[in-house]
Amino acid sequence: MAFRELASTPAPEPPGAPWPASMTRTDEGLELAGVKLTELAAYGTPVYLLDEEELLDRARAWRKALPDGRIYYASKSFLTPAVARWMIEEGLDLDVASEGELRTALAGGVTGENLGLHGNAKSRELLALALDLEIGRIVLDSPGEAELLAEIAREKGVRAPCFVRVTTGVHAGGHEFIATAHEDQKFGLSLATGEAKALAQKVAASDSLELRGLHSHIGSQIAGTEGFVAAGTRIIELVVELAEEGISVPEIDLGGGYGIVYTALDPTPVAPAEVIAEIRSALTETCDKAGIQLPELSIEPGRSISGPAGITCYTVLGVKDVTTADGVRRYVSVDGGMSDNIRPALYQADYTAMLDRDSDAEKVACRVVGIHCESGDIVVPDVALPGDIAPGDLLVVAATGAYGRTMASNYNMLRRPGVLGVRQGRARWLWRPETWDDLLGQFAEIDDEPGESARAPKETDES
Ligand SMILES: *Cc1c(COP(=O)(O)O)cnc(C)c1O
Repeated sequence: MAFRELASTPAPEPPGAPWPASMTRTDEGLELAGVKLTELAAYGTPVYLLDEEELLDRARAWRKALPDGRIYYASKSFLTPAVARWMIEEGLDLDVASEGELRTALAGGVTGENLGLHGNAKSRELLALALDLEIGRIVLDSPGEAELLAEIAREKGVRAPCFVRVTTGVHAGGHEFIATAHEDQKFGLSLATGEAKALAQKVAASDSLELRGLHSHIGSQIAGTEGFVAAGTRIIELVVELAEEGISVPEIDLGGGYGIVYTALDPTPVAPAEVIAEIRSALTETCDKAGIQLPELSIEPGRSISGPAGITCYTVLGVKDVTTADGVRRYVSVDGGMSDNIRPALYQADYTAMLDRDSDAEKVACRVVGIHCESGDIVVPDVALPGDIAPGDLLVVAATGAYGRTMASNYNMLRRPGVLGVRQGRARWLWRPETWDDLLGQFAEIDDEPGESARAPKETDES
């Protein structure tokens, strides 16, 4: 079992994965982008720390790997207006899947043409807003949605740029992938049953929709390239079938999901340039055999850009030895938990951690847990930490830049932590921490009459 193995494995020392490139250990403890961890922790813990240069370097690596295609950064992994702006400046586009993500991108000065809209169900209002913004693409997820969009586009006298989301039957995640014909999940339209093809035909025939491409997203934290090649090959087969009917598909999007290093057990990810080269050569071969041109290629990396750029810093609150069937496990409680990182509870995700201070103490098998009222409130399931770990120690968890802050909650009435952007010896809030006023300001007055507080809250900005 991986967990057992990790129980006796300390985190790799920086620099290097899973830590941001700028992280180092000095005589006085850890440093990120030239700022001491103790200084960053002084802003209050828990706190997310983002190495801005690492985020940018990762975006640039994808940009360089696919110079002639579009890279849609998956904003759900981590987005602030500044991050949205940086992505556009680096020549990337942005994937959004809700009105909030869309508005955050707009707040960063992003215009509609650089946005792709996703989601298994989109409201009339969101579709109308997308068309008003002249959005670059809308990824359709059902025939009903296509009808609704066609109707809105007709009313507005425009043609909506559409992709059809195809479920190829290829599923990947962790270190393996499977390819089946059967689907029972909410995203996309099945290739196997012909539903994807039928929707593509319908879009192509519509006078208010335009078929710009086919889309596939096979999963997350995928190692290697076979899964992308398998899904891409199935997509190309559909492109060929459509071409035979005179329907052209100018672009295919193979989605995101490129894996990163979370712990010492994760393989080193294939570099972006290699990923793209392998996908391109395999798909070109399939296209050559069928006698068609390879459509334009686009991808949607999220965590592989934002994940390794972020770490979380906690303060240790308590240490307790628990006797288990396998021996003694030391439970280390920190001042956050599932409210700032739900992934271990949601997906049994693994992470690794280490102390800020150096210690010669022998390492012991630890489990890092949060302060929430759930036994599943685990931060790091198994990691070896110095035996002299004690309350007050600063502990950092690696690779929390993606799906940390964006999936945070207020469970147990914790305030969601802020994100400090760190670059060249300086730190600033990219996303400020919630205050008690933010939290308590959401509640109705306790003597509000029924009917009073039931009215929709007033928007301060109706833009
Ligand atoms: C979540 C998601 C992504 C990004 O996934 P990562 O694992 O963060 O790379 C890309 N495309 C779609 C459609 C997604 O839902």
